[in-house]
Amino acid sequence: MNEIPAGNEIPVGIVAVIKPRVYELDLAALSAWCVSQGFPAYRAEQIRRWIFGRRAANFSEMHDVPALIRLALESQFSLFPSKETQHQVSRDGTEKLLLELADGQFTECVLMRETDRRTICISTQVGCAMGCVFCASGLLGLKRNLTTGEILEQVLRLDRLLKKGEQITNLVVMGIGEPLANLKSLVPALDTLNEKGGLGLGARRITISTVGLPEKIRELAKLGKQYNLAVSLHAPNDVLRDRLVPVNDKIGIDAVLEAADDYFAITGRRVTYEYVLLSGVNDAPEHARQLSKRLQSRVAHVNLIPMNGVSELEFVAPTAPRTDEFVQVLESFGIPATVRKRKGADIDAACGQLRLAREKNSV
Ligand code: SAH
Repeated sequence: MNEIPAGNEIPVGIVAVIKPRVYELDLAALSAWCVSQGFPAYRAEQIRRWIFGRRAANFSEMHDVPALIRLALESQFSLFPSKETQHQVSRDGTEKLLLELADGQFTECVLMRETDRRTICISTQVGCAMGCVFCASGLLGLKRNLTTGEILEQVLRLDRLLKKGEQITNLVVMGIGEPLANLKSLVPALDTLNEKGGLGLGARRITISTVGLPEKIRELAKLGKQYNLAVSLHAPNDVLRDRLVPVNDKIGIDAVLEAADDYFAITGRRVTYEYVLLSGVNDAPEHARQLSKRLQSRVAHVNLIPMNGVSELEFVAPTAPRTDEFVQVLESFGIPATVRKRKGADIDAACGQLRLAREKNSV
């Protein structure tokens, strides 16, 4: 069944039985909670340091927090209520978690290791309503939005996979779902990660990828943050984009680009355009020329993503020479382009694939 609870939220009955995650409270709220329980307000900072800096796995590890407070925390809050159903580790150091949420839904998140970077990729929805034809995440439609706590739990769990001395350097909101369709949960989560008393991750190290919802892009720009925006274009003309990214038929490329221009004007951040390369579909030199013409007058960067195979779908990535040719056309127009490196190839690391396999097995 593809029923979506009212407002795309976690069903109310379930909310009533789960204890809130303690990190859903910001510093002010946690301080107020401390005071309400008869504890000094400053304990809130100490608790948050254990969560965000010292990677506590449970409340009892917080040994310099008085036992009485730990007891109160234990009885009123949770830390990691989701169930880790799968933990895959790739030969290249990429790790992926499949988490089962309180209502039996699944979400995925990934940690990628490069020499000096530790990038995490998180999800914002269970499923997706955008219906991009090459993407595993949307094959089963949208179930619901993730809550702020569910988004933060992914980050904190991935953080705990890191060894001493390693730390998260970058965060990409490129997992399952359309992040701008769930700004309500995402923005508070990013605020927490961004804060000094939180993870202290600079906004410029955070990238939000969107299918291109113009009004939501402007809403994001107006937050006054320096988040990076990545727009999933995937086609240089509306006929092709309508086919690959069905929501385009109500929006159109011009409107997407205008909103991205506004994002750049307001934040000063160069926008990245993502372009999944599908052999024989959108990878011809002519497509690269059309794309170049669209982007030529803009401060833009193109990130080419060779199609990551999904067994249910027939699309495949072009050959390396064909990909190089595409890059060369863009560069001949002066448009910087990079080809995304594949991480975790041996573990289905592209988002949506584990969840899809899991859901199909349970049908
Ligand atoms: N809803 C957001 C986030 C999607 S995931 C968005 O549309 O941007 C991040 C990127 O991976 C998007 O550009 C998405 O189109 C792309 N993607 C999805 N499935 C893919 C696949 N099988 N192979 C390569 N890229 C894919």
